[in-house]
Amino acid sequence: MPVKGNNLFCPSCNKSQSQINLIDCEYCGHDLGAPNVNIVSTETELTALQGRYDNAMEYAIKSDKVDQLKNFENFFNNNVNGIINLSLHVLEAWIIQSGAYKSYHRAIGDKLRTIAIPSNDQKRTVLNSVIHGTYGRDMIYAALTLNCQGLTSYGNCSVILDEQAIESRATTLEENSYTFIKTHNLNLEKLEIPPGYRSNWQNKIKLAVAKLHKKINQDSNEKDFCEMILFSDGKRNGEDFIEVHVYKEITNFAIKIIYIPKSNNRREELVIKAIEEKCPGKVIRTE
Ligand SMILES: [Zn+2]
Repeated sequence: MPVKGNNLFCPSCNKSQSQINLIDCEYCGHDLGAPNVNIVSTETELTALQGRYDNAMEYAIKSDKVDQLKNFENFFNNNVNGIINLSLHVLEAWIIQSGAYKSYHRAIGDKLRTIAIPSNDQKRTVLNSVIHGTYGRDMIYAALTLNCQGLTSYGNCSVILDEQAIESRATTLEENSYTFIKTHNLNLEKLEIPPGYRSNWQNKIKLAVAKLHKKINQDSNEKDFCEMILFSDGKRNGEDFIEVHVYKEITNFAIKIIYIPKSNNRREELVIKAIEEKCPGKVIRTE
């Protein structure tokens, strides 16, 4: 980890960097790692997140719910995955045409997709910028899931990401960016993201507990845990989840499983067969 205390150090020449959000060493040019991970790995962020986690534990002790919280933690640790939902059309563009899933801005730059309508394009650009600054253009958005069910408003195909391919470049945000900005009143006058609401991949359990501990009670079962982590009724406004930000493109190699619903459409079936050929052993057909 190139972050020590609140400072970024070069893993090659060990020199301290003047800013936390650099991606190349100011001295030797060596890669400093994913900027989103570095930014949430400072002492300030880690201490704030640990404080929120400790408060949640204290709350569980006082309300006699420690066992329930431990059940949740175990279930979370055994089942958590990063998931991206998309339409078959977008999945085809990724797997067959490009070989890599790119961020919104990179995909436009590479002419892999068209720009969204003005209001949506403005929203995506603002969200990227508020949360990540310049690197927002390289950020891919996913969600945490405990049951391989994703955000169906984005499409009925689900891609489960291979943990090893993302753990060094993925961070989590307590809510989706759009809601988060409203919850914390972020705007041009107040751009500082409060510490403790994001985590690196290793600490995502702490963020989940900090967010959800008051909802967990004696009656909570595994299905409830799954819905607490990701709730989707197919409408964007009603979705609640922990957002995952992955720095840089996701290639076909970084895929663990792809869930694709069966189709009666002949062209779609041909596309699915082609996807199966590109990703052998990774495609699961669903009803
Ligand atoms: Zn260096």
